Amino acid sequence: MNSYDSDRILESVSKTHKKVNNPEDADVIVFNTCHIREKAAEKIYSEVGKIAELKEQNQGLKLVVAGCVAQAEGKAMRMRQPKIDLVIGPQMYHDFSLMLKENKYIENTMLDFNNEDKFAKLGNKRTSANLSSFLTIQEGCNKFCSFCVVPYTRGAEFSRSVSDLIEETKELAEKGCREIILLGQNVNAYHGLDERGKETSLAELILEIEKIEEIERISYTTSHPRDMSEDLIELHGYSKKLNPYLHLPVQSGSDKILKNMNRKYTAKEYVKIIERIRKFCPNIALSSDFIIGYPGETEEDFKRTVDLIKEVNFAQAYSFKYSSRPGTKAARFKDIIEVEVANRRLYEVQDLLNSQQKNYNNKFLNTFQEVLFKGRAKLQGQVRGTTKWMQTINFKEKKPFYNKAKVKIIKTMANSLLGEMV
Ligand code: SAH
Ligand code: SF4
Repeated sequence: MNSYDSDRILESVSKTHKKVNNPEDADVIVFNTCHIREKAAEKIYSEVGKIAELKEQNQGLKLVVAGCVAQAEGKAMRMRQPKIDLVIGPQMYHDFSLMLKENKYIENTMLDFNNEDKFAKLGNKRTSANLSSFLTIQEGCNKFCSFCVVPYTRGAEFSRSVSDLIEETKELAEKGCREIILLGQNVNAYHGLDERGKETSLAELILEIEKIEEIERISYTTSHPRDMSEDLIELHGYSKKLNPYLHLPVQSGSDKILKNMNRKYTAKEYVKIIERIRKFCPNIALSSDFIIGYPGETEEDFKRTVDLIKEVNFAQAYSFKYSSRPGTKAARFKDIIEVEVANRRLYEVQDLLNSQQKNYNNKFLNTFQEVLFKGRAKLQGQVRGTTKWMQTINFKEKKPFYNKAKVKIIKTMANSLLGEMV
């Protein structure tokens, strides 16, 4: 979502500013930050510290911190690093252009929650698109999982209207987008209004987006198991454009831990949802998130997570060591897991998930896949793209192209595939 937000911030000032490639050439530098885990949040101070030195050569340089760290730490950021000129939270980006234009750094913090105004003022016009573009359809969260900062930093759940989203998708399609990735902290809780004022589900929205001819692929992330409604599950069986991919974070396989996390589902209920999805879309690539070393996690609880992973068999997944976040309920929990124990469990889970990912990818060896171009690969002479199953694929191509290609998979690894253009 920060990637989408950064594009919108940039577009909102396009009449007065343009993007430059080097910080040395900039008059304004915006750091868009993430507060979800401590590591990301802490990094921002060292980064700002390094960049702040540029102020010595360029007196007019303005440093702005945007995003969820800005929202969570507010004025305290400017006390810790006085070289920061403005702290702006994620629901205030619509006023950023005005502030820049008038060179107003009044009070230096913009932290209100005003997402209705935000999207109304940012509008649906887009100045550029990628072949694969993000689109925020929903923001914020009302679920208050005990470990999570999102309800405090992004605010209450808000869904954009269907007509706004169709208009923005058409804009992106016109500018070359072929794959649209619908975003929300709780994307499947989407319930935006249609033109008659009726609440629309994510499945209904996807069917509307499918009607836009240029859009060939649709994905959505991140979903919550409790909002995995039957119409969305069934849509995976008959949709012509929905990617066969689902990121559905479970966090833990232990019912005790799930309860302490306030997730409001059991491991069994999660597995049931997966079975339903597989019934409608048998080859779906399943992805998830895991928090390892949550307060009170015993060996038995951890074993339940391992058992769930073995039972589901994921195509890919993300796993994180629990990070205590200020202001959350879990930050007050006493039964902290020792770092060595949490690390050992994390490595074990990551090994298992890696081997599942490799096995999943192996099935694609010697098959032909349609690949959407995403950019240059790390290795010189290679480009990078994704399959419909959201696997990264690298293949040799001298000139990067802006399109799609048919590629034969010649090698499979845990994190990527290697291909050959046909
Ligand atoms: N809304 C999504 C997740 C959003 S946050 C959901 O409910 O599933 C993205 C991921 O970051 C989470 O799935 C979780 O695995 C991880 N995460 C969030 N808070 C965390 C914390 N305090 N420590 C470690 N990982 C965390
Ligand atoms: Fe955070 Fe997701 Fe829970 Fe909302 S549902 S509080 S975003 S983990």
